[in-house]
Amino acid sequence: MRRITADWIYPASAPPLRHGVVVMDDHGQIIDLKTRAEFDAAELEFHHGILCPGFINAHCHLELSHLKGKINEHTGLTGFISEFIQKRNEFPDQAEQFIRLADEEMIAAGIVAVGDISNTDISFLQKSRSSIRYHTFIECFGLIAGKANEYFTASKDVFDEAMLYRLMASITPHAPYSVTDELFEAIFSFRQNAPAAFSYHNQESDEENKWSRGESSRFDDFYAKLNLPAIRRYGESSMKANAPFFPKNSRVLFVHNTYSSAADFQFATDEIGQGVFFCTCPRANLYIENRLPDYSFWKKYPDRICIGTDSYASNHQLSILEEMKTIQTNDRSVTLEELIRWSTRNGADFFGWQNALGTLEPGKTPGINLITGVDPEFQQLTAASRVKRLV
Ligand SMILES: [Zn+2]
Repeated sequence: MRRITADWIYPASAPPLRHGVVVMDDHGQIIDLKTRAEFDAAELEFHHGILCPGFINAHCHLELSHLKGKINEHTGLTGFISEFIQKRNEFPDQAEQFIRLADEEMIAAGIVAVGDISNTDISFLQKSRSSIRYHTFIECFGLIAGKANEYFTASKDVFDEAMLYRLMASITPHAPYSVTDELFEAIFSFRQNAPAAFSYHNQESDEENKWSRGESSRFDDFYAKLNLPAIRRYGESSMKANAPFFPKNSRVLFVHNTYSSAADFQFATDEIGQGVFFCTCPRANLYIENRLPDYSFWKKYPDRICIGTDSYASNHQLSILEEMKTIQTNDRSVTLEELIRWSTRNGADFFGWQNALGTLEPGKTPGINLITGVDPEFQQLTAASRVKRLV
């Protein structure tokens, strides 16, 4: 039995509790949430800082961990992808070692669960061994007309492999600029997803919006340079052109949304339903586009915002706390309580892990993080904020 107390507890299911105590059994299962007054001091494990549930990293690509420090910053999305395509297979021999180190780094950074994109099976062994709970999105893309079945079958082979490793997995479309209408159809008619949840890279660059509006865009060059057929869906924005392809009432995590508007978020919700969640990966946005989303309207979806690190192709570390710090440094109106909810409970709700993870409530085994270096007066993260995993 452990009785852990700190200056504040942020349970993510209730308002912050000053001098709260988390009572838990030896297996990390929470028994109760109390306050210090109910105990003798000698029974308590004291910490300075705040306690919160283990983090859920809603968007990562573990298999790209070998690209750490390899891709240039601030080249824009089409520049990034062009460089990425050249470099992603450069060090395949060491790839598994980088994957293991990245998994261990996330564990140390207080991450207990991850929504992870895979295009191959190279990360599956590590994911099946890890103490992190993974949902694997098998990502499918391809632009050549008439080849949708071929692209889908290749993803289905990776999916079958994931099932052999007993991973939770679903086949998902990659992005607006890489999936044809017929490939959307193949992906959305697949019935064996376990569980059915989709992820989609959305509005990561303004070029996607210009492209949808029929304006000239860096996507003109992009397709020409790669010598690939272009795919173009017309609409007021990329979200408006693409969201109608998703099945009604499905669970969809739109990732990045750097150039989304309030109207785009509303449109996706109206079109698809309450299973639509929005994930931000701020440090990857700074790495690639050197720009952050406008969080002022994100706050209107308090229960459907998640946070991801993206991969080592576009980040210098895989730390949810660093993502939270980046958000708050750039937008002081986002509160610590909101950030904690985005990085814990909402991810658990999206992936269907809410029975065990995401909040400090009796019966759950969410892990406990201690965050230090929090401004005591304003309850804000600072440059000195650090996370330590206590459970
Ligand atoms: Zn990504």
